[in-house]
Amino acid sequence: MDFEQARRRMVDMQIEGRGVRDEAVLAAMREVPRERFVRTGTEELAYEDCPLAIGEGQTISQPFIVALMIEAATVRTGARVLEVGAGSGYASALLSRIAAEVYAIERIASLAHEAQQRFDALGYSNIHLIVGDGSRGWSEHAPFDAILVAASAPEVPPALLEQLAIGGRLVLPVGSGWGGQRLCRVVRNGMHDYEHSDLGGVAFVPLIGEQGWDEDGRRGG
Ligand code: SAM
Repeated sequence: MDFEQARRRMVDMQIEGRGVRDEAVLAAMREVPRERFVRTGTEELAYEDCPLAIGEGQTISQPFIVALMIEAATVRTGARVLEVGAGSGYASALLSRIAAEVYAIERIASLAHEAQQRFDALGYSNIHLIVGDGSRGWSEHAPFDAILVAASAPEVPPALLEQLAIGGRLVLPVGSGWGGQRLCRVVRNGMHDYEHSDLGGVAFVPLIGEQGWDEDGRRGG
């Protein structure tokens, strides 16, 4: 299979064709080999516009949603970005092609280990990945110009609001189950001034942690 051609076609038809206009996002998607971020044996499905299982009950997100989230977060050259829920590492890899530094947190150690191996193999050295609870953010490296969360929270985690730079953008799914989640964008206009907007319905795995859900799907893990 010609992955490069499949990648170009996916970006033209599924990403740009569905309204993503940010040139930096489109260029990153043309560059990062998604077939390297899916499980062995599913490479041929890498450029279908759908999520795929990556093990441990988790998924690599649908490419269009990842593009939409990065565009909504207006990630720019020189930015410092936090990604919560690194999973396969694909979204972090895209972010690393645009931003200066990417701080990524994944709760499941085996997924983080595989993602790190991919970053090393591809030479994406500006991604700093740790295993941990990203619902609490990563205060040592705050403030962040953009924060993206790839798992759905019961409400916007206060720690992430605090760790957003003034002028920064936070994009995350909020809500429960497969029918009740909304993709939200929060812009920090001032110290205590946050502007919220709704980007539409989505379906993500739950954010499990102190400022997310507990393992049984109740609030506050
Ligand atoms: N961005 C990922 C990608 O490109 O493959 C998407 C991964 S998946 C949709 C969401 C991930 O969030 C899962 O790998 C899950 O383990 C992780 N996750 C859930 N709660 C978390 C938390 N509190 N901290 C860090 N990661 C978390």
